[in-house]
Amino acid sequence: MSQDPDSPQFCCAANIHVAPGTALPDLCAIQYAILENAGYSIIATDVAGTILYFNRAAQQMLGYAWHEVVGRETPELFHVEDEVVAKARMRAGASATDCSSGFDALIGRVLAEGRDEGDWVYVRKDGSRLHVHLTITTLRDATGKLIGFLGIASDIGERLRMEQELRVAAIAFESQAAIMVTDAGQRILRVNPAFTKLTGYSADEAVGQLPSMLKSGRQDRSFYQQMWHELGETGHWQGEIWNRRKSGEIYPEWLTISAVHDAEGELSHYVSTFSDISNLKVAESEIHHLAFYDPLTSLPNRRLLLNRLDKACQATRRSAEYGALLFIDLDHFKTLNDTLGHDVGDQFLIEVANRLKLSIRAGDTAARQGGDEFAVMLDELGLEPAAAAVLAENLAEKIRGELLRPFRLADGSEHYGSASIGISLFRGQDKSVEVLVKQADIALYRAKDAGRNAIRFFDNAMQTALDERAALEAGLRCALVRNEFRLLVQPQVDTTGRLLGGECLIRWQPPGRPQVLPGDFIPLAEESGLIAPIGAWVLDEACLHLRRWAENEATRDLYLSVNVSASQFRQAEFVEQVSAALQRHGADPARLKIELTESLLLDDVDRVVAKMQALQRLGVRFSLDDFGTGYASLAYLKRFPFEQLKVDRSFVRDIASDPDDAAIVSAIVAMGNTLRLNVVAEGVETEEQHAFLVEHGCRCFQGYLFGRPMPFTDFAAQAGSLPR
Ligand code: C2E
Ligand code: MG
Ligand code: MG
Repeated sequence: MSQDPDSPQFCCAANIHVAPGTALPDLCAIQYAILENAGYSIIATDVAGTILYFNRAAQQMLGYAWHEVVGRETPELFHVEDEVVAKARMRAGASATDCSSGFDALIGRVLAEGRDEGDWVYVRKDGSRLHVHLTITTLRDATGKLIGFLGIASDIGERLRMEQELRVAAIAFESQAAIMVTDAGQRILRVNPAFTKLTGYSADEAVGQLPSMLKSGRQDRSFYQQMWHELGETGHWQGEIWNRRKSGEIYPEWLTISAVHDAEGELSHYVSTFSDISNLKVAESEIHHLAFYDPLTSLPNRRLLLNRLDKACQATRRSAEYGALLFIDLDHFKTLNDTLGHDVGDQFLIEVANRLKLSIRAGDTAARQGGDEFAVMLDELGLEPAAAAVLAENLAEKIRGELLRPFRLADGSEHYGSASIGISLFRGQDKSVEVLVKQADIALYRAKDAGRNAIRFFDNAMQTALDERAALEAGLRCALVRNEFRLLVQPQVDTTGRLLGGECLIRWQPPGRPQVLPGDFIPLAEESGLIAPIGAWVLDEACLHLRRWAENEATRDLYLSVNVSASQFRQAEFVEQVSAALQRHGADPARLKIELTESLLLDDVDRVVAKMQALQRLGVRFSLDDFGTGYASLAYLKRFPFEQLKVDRSFVRDIASDPDDAAIVSAIVAMGNTLRLNVVAEGVETEEQHAFLVEHGCRCFQGYLFGRPMPFTDFAAQAGSLPR
């Protein structure tokens, strides 16, 4: 605000003391200039409080122009209401001591002492408040008579704000977060109680030290370099850091450091606040563990395995080294689980996990994919594929060997397990993780296919086979409706060559392609569920032929055997299915024989027996196929209503050359006879085999020596020509 042009020139008051010889007008001008340019608000009033003078700073602070205030009374202008009342009382002649508070009290003290000062509140023209420090002095003339008051006020708003901030800062300093203030040279100046609580160091122990007293050694030099670099660049750093308490315990904290600069912009302090995030870390790691680890074995789960595979693929792209993925499947785990219970199964899986962990190198990953499937990821297998394959195979062998060692179960018994292992090599991003996993899976499938307890590598031939398999499955889905199946029959004879019956053997003839043998499509049909409609078709055809046989004298007393897969037998409506097929064609149930394999017998025994008995009541008989390839002991077999036992072809084949096979076959035949089971030798191709079998008591035979699988028409013709 500029000087009001109407403002009168200030006249020196009579009581101004001047140095001898000073020209009074000059002095007045100087005094006036001082008053006008002072940084304080200066207001002079007469005794009644009427404003006589109001300097430029006052005009600026309070928002009034000169002519708006001069001649008016101060209280009504600048003071709050209660102070106005107090003033009125004072004017009425009340003594200073009566004045108790506010402006009243101030004036009272001024009158008593000649001057007084205190913090005060002015009201600006716009109504806002202004905090000032006010000094009031009495103005007296040369005779000492009171002629007025002089008020000098300075704006203390800023100071009050500072004080307020300091109070807030002081409270903040007492907060839950640990606070440490250092000088620019990082010497600790102050710490708060939370700091002591968190670190264990008292303020006395900490002040004067460097923050490195808290170092845990977990972060390396580059971590701190990066931190100081960022602090220098931005004045700020925050992040997670591991520190050490006085007790030696290492803990994680969330740390924020701010650089403080003085008015000149020079770095003066660092303020660090930090809090203990151990609990957060525990929760975080629990979540991490649940998401990425198998709860039973604590091994990484499939998600983490895929994660690591992905990283390994990226790393090997840079290093060009090979890695390998091993898929490990525990053979017959389901049987163990079903027969001994899930607790034992779990215990076994934990032990498998332990053995895997012990078999691999430090940087490798052993994971549980789920169920009885495990995986191992190896990296850094070198630059040569052949050498990498050898390394991977060696490790796979080691694992296979480890899993062959007997497992001691909780009840003290021993369990012998084995594993099938599929291996796929990888390097960089030659193939996606998805493809890599699929290939390891294919290799595993091959290992199982090779009779289990085996190791197989994925190679391209496998891929081709797999593609063929996919094409086969697609074709199989349409084969029934396109009527592409044929049923053949293979004769079964007694010692004299007399025909006893035949076994139905299915063939698939896709159009324009070679005929497919059951071994190449039945497992596929089982996996895809197609075995149900295919099996039903076979049963229906068999009953049709039985009915036809019944009409022919040469065939009416013959048995017809039908192969039934375990999954087909397990169907809930299997008994009804058989019964319906028999009735549909009016076939004699007593002439139908169902061939089952040993794998079925490991299922729920009671249920299997009950089903067999239901069929038995229909008149149907049972034959146990491929005996000797599974686990069933002859004693175990007594629990099931079998009438016939078929010695697997693989034993018969080498009967003449392999003494072991010869011994096995003769033992099976002898025991079968003891148990009053009708023993059939399968795959008899030579007279030599036949002679051996006869010599050891076998009475029934099936094999190329007596006839290959043939169409029913040929069979009937052959039967008709045989002597009865
Ligand atoms: P399987 O029931 O053990 O049938 C005997 C297999 O041995 C037949 O193979 C037969 O052709 C073959 N065989 C018989 N005598 C000889 C011989 O002297 N030498 C040789 N090398 N082989 C001989 P095929 O027809 O390939 O059938 C294989 C398997 O497929 C059967 O084994 C049976 O388990 C299954 N299968 C066949 N037909 C059906 C069916 O309709 N349903 C089901 N579920 N499985 C079937
Ligand atoms: Mg059979
Ligand atoms: Mg067989």
